[in-house]
Amino acid sequence: MVDKGWADDSLPSLLSNYAHQLSAIPTKAKTSPQTSPRDLIRFTVGNVDPDTLPTKELTRAAEYVLSQGQDVTLNYGPAQGNVELRDLIAQRQTEEQHVTLSAEDISLTSGTTQSLHNICQTFLNPGDVVVAEVPAWRGFFRASQASGAEVVSLPLDQHGPSIDILARNIKELLTQGKHPKLLYTIPTYRNPTGTTMSPERREALLELAARHRILIIEDDAYSALYFDSAPPPSLFSLSGGEGVLRLGTFSKTIATGLRVGWIEGKREYIRATVAMRLDNGTSPFVSRMISEFLKNGSFDVHVKRARAVYKAKWDTLRQVLSISGVNTIASSYPEGGFFTWLTFPEGLQAKDILQHAEEEGVAAAPGTSSYYEDRYKEEGEHSIRLCFSNVPLASVEEGAHRLLRAIDRTKK
Ligand code: PMP
Repeated sequence: MVDKGWADDSLPSLLSNYAHQLSAIPTKAKTSPQTSPRDLIRFTVGNVDPDTLPTKELTRAAEYVLSQGQDVTLNYGPAQGNVELRDLIAQRQTEEQHVTLSAEDISLTSGTTQSLHNICQTFLNPGDVVVAEVPAWRGFFRASQASGAEVVSLPLDQHGPSIDILARNIKELLTQGKHPKLLYTIPTYRNPTGTTMSPERREALLELAARHRILIIEDDAYSALYFDSAPPPSLFSLSGGEGVLRLGTFSKTIATGLRVGWIEGKREYIRATVAMRLDNGTSPFVSRMISEFLKNGSFDVHVKRARAVYKAKWDTLRQVLSISGVNTIASSYPEGGFFTWLTFPEGLQAKDILQHAEEEGVAAAPGTSSYYEDRYKEEGEHSIRLCFSNVPLASVEEGAHRLLRAIDRTKK
């Protein structure tokens, strides 16, 4: 028997500094109660509505592609990703974004999470400075931390990231000899607030970023999921693709488990990111399946249906919240996507509300998990994020009532 020199506490001494740091970063809000009521309604999970999952259509598409050229489907493909899917995305984006794109201007990834990691690996050195709007989903924060970058928060007002604060931050950083390289934003139906950057703010942000040569990373995961009318043009579209990398994903329009997204941008930027891919590219099989799903018309039918489903959920939630919550809650009014953001007066702490909510059988995410720097975290202490996408429509109303009861109990 080999000597078992491995002590139980061997792992910490093996981990990289960054792995240590990651385990110190709360990546998931602690939202599940210790004694979970069986019918807990979870406004926490950013998955799509389970009833919209197009299982039949995806099965048909998968069978079709397997019956066709198996070479392309089941062998390694180019690191930039399956060319047919890149072509289809480029055609659609050319129509929707009014920017001429071809397959060369797109690289496929395993979702936006990987796009962000890939971009940070490509553009950042340890010690570089990046700017990220807050509150925001933590994907960019984690990816830039992995590259050893310093993240400067950019707070939002009702129109989007504050341009005055950004200008001030840039000036301050430049006097310290630091030049911010990347700026991360989720302009449309953002996670966590559900709000959308105004057209004027988009122009102002582009102008300021271009002046200082800061590359904008536009996370556009939700823009296809509007409730009534399409959102304002993307930053990518407004800039003609200059100075912006736009990130798309099929996670929210089809299913998070597909793990396929993309980066679109100027060809030489895309080439630089592809050179950093060490994983032999995104699954050719899944990419081909998605191509077929797009080509045979299933995607457009599906997305149209999904929009109506999320709109119905938001309408239900809004009605309940606006009847009883008027004096306590300031709710954001999303015009698409998966989220709304509730803000409470100073005296009401989100963690207390969430504790009561668990007892009432409803879960939501604390606002603090969408902030990175301590100086802004306080804002999150009076906020929670409700993600309504994954809650069955029939449970949305009950979930909202449970939450209101929890708020009432916290007030007492
Ligand atoms: N971007 C935003 C703004 C998100 O909220 C999420 C999901 N939480 C993602 C990207 C994740 O995308 P993917 O599944 O494509 O990695």
